[in-house]
Amino acid sequence: MIKTAKKPAKTASLASSAKNGYERISPADLKHCEEVNKSYLAYIAKSKTEREAHDEAVLLLEAAGFQDMRQYEKTGQKLSPGAKVYRSSEGKTLMAIVVGKRPLEQGMHIVGGHTDAPRIDLKPNPLYENTGMALLDTHYYGGIKKYQWLTIPLALHGVFVKADGKKVNVNIGEDPADPVLCITDLLPHLAADQYKKSLGEAIPGEGLDVVAGSIPTAEKDKKEKVKHNILALLHKKYGVTEADFQSAELEIVPAAAPREAGLDRSMILAYGHDDRVCAYTGLKAILDLKGVPEYTSCVLLCDKEEIGSVGATGMASNLFENASAELLNLTTPAYSELALKRALHNSWMISADVNALFDPMYPSVSEKRNSALLNHGVCVTKYGGSRGKSGSSDASAEFMAHIRRIFDRGGVVWQTGELGKVDQGGGGTIAQFMARYGMQVVDCGVGLFSMHAPMELAGKLDIYMAYKGYLAFLKDGRK
Ligand code: MN
Ligand code: MN
Repeated sequence: MIKTAKKPAKTASLASSAKNGYERISPADLKHCEEVNKSYLAYIAKSKTEREAHDEAVLLLEAAGFQDMRQYEKTGQKLSPGAKVYRSSEGKTLMAIVVGKRPLEQGMHIVGGHTDAPRIDLKPNPLYENTGMALLDTHYYGGIKKYQWLTIPLALHGVFVKADGKKVNVNIGEDPADPVLCITDLLPHLAADQYKKSLGEAIPGEGLDVVAGSIPTAEKDKKEKVKHNILALLHKKYGVTEADFQSAELEIVPAAAPREAGLDRSMILAYGHDDRVCAYTGLKAILDLKGVPEYTSCVLLCDKEEIGSVGATGMASNLFENASAELLNLTTPAYSELALKRALHNSWMISADVNALFDPMYPSVSEKRNSALLNHGVCVTKYGGSRGKSGSSDASAEFMAHIRRIFDRGGVVWQTGELGKVDQGGGGTIAQFMARYGMQVVDCGVGLFSMHAPMELAGKLDIYMAYKGYLAFLKDGRK
């Protein structure tokens, strides 16, 4: 045995730590964490659809002094550094902006999340009667595991738009005095055939019809008396007829309210964390932004992400580019196409979307060292996609270095995380659609358990650190 003169050099600082965030947070931050989560609970309780999430966000923005950008577009009145505006598209996709000190041509700092969530939509001709019951035919939206949506209390949210353009808001099932809706499942006693099917095939898409009622109308001449009674109830409450379903957007969502979860209250169980948790923390970051940022701050609350960002309110459309053109026009003496292209190219973006947490119940689908852990901080994902990074938007090492600098300087507890094992599956966000402009984009958001389930589980510390990270990113002066 050789006697060593010196103690071996400490190497601990060379390895990255994977400590629980609660061991790394200051008492002041912990207090702030609870406040941010409380405000998130209040927001998400009222935001069960993309339209509701949009409307609640507009209320918060207006209360904080943000003005409708369309008013400026109409008058041509210019926006100066420090100006706070928002821009709505069809009451679904929303953009909040604080004009920065530098010209837009030098780029924006963008945090973009989405407010649509997996759900079950009503078909355009949904109501029918069968065996003395009224049922509503549905078409699910987004990637759901269908069996999870059976036998739980459901609410009906959305709008009827009548032929004369009058809009009627619908919200049934949230007030404790309201009735709820439900999709039935087979009793185990008669499930011999169902048990033999695979999980994905056991419940067909056409098997998600909602039970709506069972009392026949007293009117003698009517054919489908139960269906007619439901129509009469809807007409009484909303002034609508059966034809009005054709110009409606009605969504079936879980009726349950968001709740604190865990005996230590360290989590939140809620419908629609994906992606209202990142959309809200982004929104709160721009609401709390003090002073005039160096670069123009922009927070996006997008629609249609869950079905591929398609359509006029999705990020695969020209919506963002067009809105940026309007913003450029309002912040420069003379609009130019070249300046717009430069503004988009020079922008930095956080694609604020959720990721999957490592689940000890399902260890085989994740690779532990590259998975996000519950309440270990906001999760930064360099690339998504599936198999050989197919469909991924891969953030550059240079941009990752900027994110590290911004988060470490801002006291943000963060971690890296991939979405599952290499060949297990995968997913994408709006990152790829924004990266088209040549801007720097990275995925960064809150890790979840049970993503896309009726109730998803997220950690409070992770939610708070998303807020803190987005705020530090919006404020950053690239120095
Ligand atoms: Mn998402
Ligand atoms: Mn999703």
